Amino acid sequence: MTSRAWVTLATNDSYSLGALVLAHSLRRAGSAYPAVVLITPSVTDPMRDRLNAVFANVVTVDVLDSGDAAHLALLQRPDLGITFTKIHCWNLTQYEKCVFLDADTLVVQNCDELFDREELSAAPDVGWPDCFNSGVFVFRPSAETFSSLITFAQERGSFDGGDQGLLNSYFSDWAHGDINKHLPFLYNVTSAAFYSYLPAFKQFGQNLKIIHFIGAAKPWLQHFNWESRSVDAPEHLRELLQLWWDLFVSQVHTQLDPSMSGVAGN
Ligand code: UDP
Ligand code: MN
Repeated sequence: MTSRAWVTLATNDSYSLGALVLAHSLRRAGSAYPAVVLITPSVTDPMRDRLNAVFANVVTVDVLDSGDAAHLALLQRPDLGITFTKIHCWNLTQYEKCVFLDADTLVVQNCDELFDREELSAAPDVGWPDCFNSGVFVFRPSAETFSSLITFAQERGSFDGGDQGLLNSYFSDWAHGDINKHLPFLYNVTSAAFYSYLPAFKQFGQNLKIIHFIGAAKPWLQHFNWESRSVDAPEHLRELLQLWWDLFVSQVHTQLDPSMSGVAGN
């Protein structure tokens, strides 16, 4: 039996909303593989119950923080140090192969073929295409890799202060090595691409597999009109954000504790 799983991460209730919608998107796409969420102690008990209802496995891990304020300030994202927590995914050694998905991604079409790829497979980052974007990557859990990543992080830090800088330095042969480890961009279409190359998005967008809502404006922070059930967003993003919200409204919102409903769409 091959043991494979999708893995995501949520260190608070806000990102947990993204994780819940992501898990429903995997179901809707008919994935044959289970989904696992890594959480930290700050996720509340009612939210853990919700996650338990949708994920095959909810694993509590410690916060790892890059503590690298200077580099993160350069990116204008002081919150990203916490993304180091992602590294814990290498400890899921009950699985042979996994695909990590950020909690701000949405699976639009079945992507189970990703499990045929090897570690470390990922798609290029639009900001610097010789780096991979660490929102979607194929990896092989291993306690040895985990501890060597931690050592590497302690000795060398991360050039951007977050997990993406660390992982790109660690898996530095990605840019020039095996082309099979370069996932097509369709597996990690970052929302900025709509602005930077709209004609390409119009041409190829219907083949989109995974959308990644990068940046500070996460789907659950957008203004949502509950009467018309539509999301307020720039034109090119609206259709994909609406997809996120349709799943949220139909699958997630009704299951939330009244005290948690206020965290989205206001
Ligand atoms: N994350 C989290 N809590 C945080 C920040 C990030 O759980 O406070 C996790 C979450 O899975 C998120 C990922 O780390 O999707 C990477 O952060 P983010 O998606 O915000 O970075 P971006 O893709 O915008 O660069
Ligand atoms: Mn992300």
